[in-house]
Amino acid sequence: MGHLGGTVTRIGTLLLLTGWGSIAAQTAGTATGQSKQKASPAAGALTKILEDVYEYRYGAVSAWFIVTDGGVITTDHMAESGLPAFKAAIASVTDKPVRYVIYSHDHADGVTGYRIFADTAKYVSHTRAAAKIAARGNASAPVPTITFDDHMQIELGGKVLDLYYVGRNHADNMIVTLYPARRFLVAIDFVPVNGLPRLSIEDSYPDEWVTSLAWIERNLDFDVLAQGHTPARGTNENVTRTRECVRTASRGKC
Ligand SMILES: [Zn+2]
Repeated sequence: MGHLGGTVTRIGTLLLLTGWGSIAAQTAGTATGQSKQKASPAAGALTKILEDVYEYRYGAVSAWFIVTDGGVITTDHMAESGLPAFKAAIASVTDKPVRYVIYSHDHADGVTGYRIFADTAKYVSHTRAAAKIAARGNASAPVPTITFDDHMQIELGGKVLDLYYVGRNHADNMIVTLYPARRFLVAIDFVPVNGLPRLSIEDSYPDEWVTSLAWIERNLDFDVLAQGHTPARGTNENVTRTRECVRTASRGKC
């Protein structure tokens, strides 16, 4: 695992953008075409979206996990109330333990309750996210012990994930997780699918948000985009559309 260095910012207001719906529906259809959805052990919905990649939806939030021979890698953004069911859903797919939990950013709504995996997992985040989570002192959100500034890789069971800091956008410590072998990208909270970005939260950085999206467009190859809210999946087109929207909104024209 490498530790490099980097930098970023935050925004927030949910709007519905006419015209995004049809594109999002098409992209969701593409992803759903590969899916097999079944009832989860509790209130959520478990969907196999790629060969070894699963989505778990619970109410308005989603989280993801990847199964390897060495264990499971999972992400935020499951709600605290959904985490027991999420853990049970993982156990319904594999008896392998969760080895890594990746926090995309520090916000409490996405990390509270993740202690549920602490018996087997290590926690990963951007350096600034770990500091903010530590400062909050909420024991139900373990402080990551694996941190980085710019880029790092996680290897488990012969599978490799690339984690990148993408600059400030919806937070000042946002990272994305790319699974190159499946062309799968997890980008939580700052690339809405079939919606508008939340630009009015205090921890948002509209100008740098545009820059971070442009960086993803230039540098990351993926077909399936996963985010933390519903509808949960899109494509790289959602990155471009979000960039155009944030740029317009930050100029006061939305
Ligand atoms: Zn957030």
